[in-house]
Amino acid sequence: MPPNVIILSHPVIQTKLTELRDYTADHRKFRELLNEIAGLMVYEVTRDWPVMPKPVQTPLERTTGQVLARQVTLVPVLRAGLGMSDGVLRLLPEARMGHLGVYRDEQTLEPVSYYHKLPPDVADTEVLLIDPMLATGGSGTAAVSFLKQAGVASMRFVCLVAAPEGIAALHAQHPEIPIYCAAIDRQLNEKGYILPGLGDAGDRLFGT
Ligand code: URA
Repeated sequence: MPPNVIILSHPVIQTKLTELRDYTADHRKFRELLNEIAGLMVYEVTRDWPVMPKPVQTPLERTTGQVLARQVTLVPVLRAGLGMSDGVLRLLPEARMGHLGVYRDEQTLEPVSYYHKLPPDVADTEVLLIDPMLATGGSGTAAVSFLKQAGVASMRFVCLVAAPEGIAALHAQHPEIPIYCAAIDRQLNEKGYILPGLGDAGDRLFGT
């Protein structure tokens, strides 16, 4: 197991991932499953986030509860990352959202950045960078570099399926960034797709 990679092997996540891999799942089913899995992943991904005390009045008496200590920013990598954002927001409804547009040039397989918009105080927040597929690692690495340049100090990379090549590439430049995934698959094919994978996540999600 590569260091700083956390596989979420929960049986419910694995069951849904298997359904998602099935090529007969249409875009409606794919969208639903991707959001469900993303929501389930939130529990583990946020497990050690700092909390702070908060006084609360129950119907019977005053007590002190706990709430998340820091603001949260969700940053989906466009476009497939959008397929996970509703599921995460269901659990973290106060989170702000940034967007990073990075696509992979089909010829060179290199990431090309075409859009970015982040909350102004993103540097002071806990950031979840989300993208279902960590394939070559090109866009993931570029996205982490971009967020670091924006001053982000605390971020986690959350994907569904990771290729060993993608993990190695991202951690070659950013070894301190934890990678959370539901599976590490075998390898990339010559076109940069993950095997066995689930195909093109963006196309399956949006029906393109
Ligand atoms: N992006 C995808 O959507 N699927 C892959 O297998 C690799 C990159």
